[in-house]
Amino acid sequence: MRYWISLIFALIVTSAFSEEKTTLYDFRYWTAPDQTRIVIDKEEDTLFNITNTDKVVVISFDDAEVLSETFSNIFFKDIRIQKVLIKRDKKTIKLIVHINKNFKVRHFTLQPNTKYKSHRLVVDIIDLKSQSAVKASKSVKKSTQITQKIILVDAGHGGEDSGAIGKNKSQEKNVNLAIAKKLVLKINKNSDLKAVLTRSGDYYIPLTKRITIAQKENATMFISIHADSVESATAKGASIYTLSEKGNNSKLAQQLEQSQNLVDQFGGVETVIDNDQFLKNILTDFSRKDRDMQSFNLAKEIISQLEKIGPIHKKIPQKANFVVLKSPAIPSVLVETAFISNPTQEKRLTNSKQQQKIADSIYQGIVNYYRKLE
Ligand SMILES: [Zn+2]
Repeated sequence: MRYWISLIFALIVTSAFSEEKTTLYDFRYWTAPDQTRIVIDKEEDTLFNITNTDKVVVISFDDAEVLSETFSNIFFKDIRIQKVLIKRDKKTIKLIVHINKNFKVRHFTLQPNTKYKSHRLVVDIIDLKSQSAVKASKSVKKSTQITQKIILVDAGHGGEDSGAIGKNKSQEKNVNLAIAKKLVLKINKNSDLKAVLTRSGDYYIPLTKRITIAQKENATMFISIHADSVESATAKGASIYTLSEKGNNSKLAQQLEQSQNLVDQFGGVETVIDNDQFLKNILTDFSRKDRDMQSFNLAKEIISQLEKIGPIHKKIPQKANFVVLKSPAIPSVLVETAFISNPTQEKRLTNSKQQQKIADSIYQGIVNYYRKLE
């Protein structure tokens, strides 16, 4: 086996020196509960072709070369990908992906952005749900919605989108997920409440899909967890944002809005599901004022808890026009837990005990908010 791998490897690397080849720079895989995303860093004009049977997806590239330093990243296994093989003939390189579930394939390309310098080909291997599984999940939801308040906990970023990166290289997506998971565990110990994560692992979810998850789960509250980042290494403290249709006038909030909303360049084609119409639909039919007031009250409760355990950047809830806060009718806040761009705060954000403290404070804020509604 080893021999064959090195032989194939040698063939590919040597052929890399011939002329006019297009380069495949790197390969990444992201496993989500319902799909596996394959991302291939390529050149803008790399020619590719994707075909599939019921067990195999073949991604072929014309006249391509693979870099020796990223060659091993081609090979991957997870709950749906059994194995990946590489096959090469004179004209093409083929990635042969063996799948062990019923699936459909979707693909799109992405432009370079601030985090990824190459053009990217994204291939999603999406599970086909069996009818019985769909039925089962519907009936479970009906029984829970009567008795419990359902809180959607959204860990910001994920997968291709790392979010902000600390001076010591911590990635915001991981910090967000760790805090979100701790918050969910804490909430679920309270039998009056039920918490659901938008993502439970390291994969990307489009912003608008995070809202539709909240709708499907009949959520009564939406909390998005993030960490702040600015040029200056000394900025510190937590802030909480609530939705404002007009957006925020402060420069920091505007920058933040842009970076949060532009995150969707990681999701690609499907993400931009006619954004405006979609949002228009969900923004009508409910009392916006009431929701904004509730969000503001929730934000205040959470801030007053976070204040007990660490610095606060903005004592008053901030308004910004974030896509993830556009959940209809339910209080929705975006918590910037601390500044990951500040090394002291980065240390705190990556420490499990400190993450627990942050999660506990957010939890207490939620409980106090509901208590005042009674
Ligand atoms: Zn963020």
